[in-house]
Amino acid sequence: MSYRTGIGYDVHRLADERKLFIGGVEIPYLKGLLGCSDADVLIHAICDALLGAISAGDIGELFPDTDPEYQGIASVELLKVTLGLVRKNGYEIVNLDTVIIAEEPKMSPFKARIQENLSKIMNIDKDRVSIKAKTNEGLGELGRKEGIACFATVLIKKES
Ligand code: MG
Repeated sequence: MSYRTGIGYDVHRLADERKLFIGGVEIPYLKGLLGCSDADVLIHAICDALLGAISAGDIGELFPDTDPEYQGIASVELLKVTLGLVRKNGYEIVNLDTVIIAEEPKMSPFKARIQENLSKIMNIDKDRVSIKAKTNEGLGELGRKEGIACFATVLIKKES
């Protein structure tokens, strides 16, 4: 068995008149994240963790924000393409662990739905998908509710 691990990080700015998507789940809030896609910061971090694990570059190289094809795209679609690359390389996912850093809105009521949604998309058991959430204790840009950041790490394996 061959194992590889990957890490991903992303941050997006909060803005008016945008919907907020985290892990493919729409979260009711007065603002949403700014970006050329739906700016799903958690999915972007997960994509980068997966791409890192197979040494396939990063999300910005694969899905350039200058490409009109990705304007307004659901980040779930980017995750599906990324998962396809992982499988094409012969790997399956062992587990995913994540951290969402958001001063607002409170993420805890949505963690179970995000976990369930990601486990379906990634086709792995829920107990292999971990969603953790915290505030930034009021510190810095994240603490001033100017944006939301996420970390993700994955372990993947293949028979060898
Ligand atoms: Mg991003």
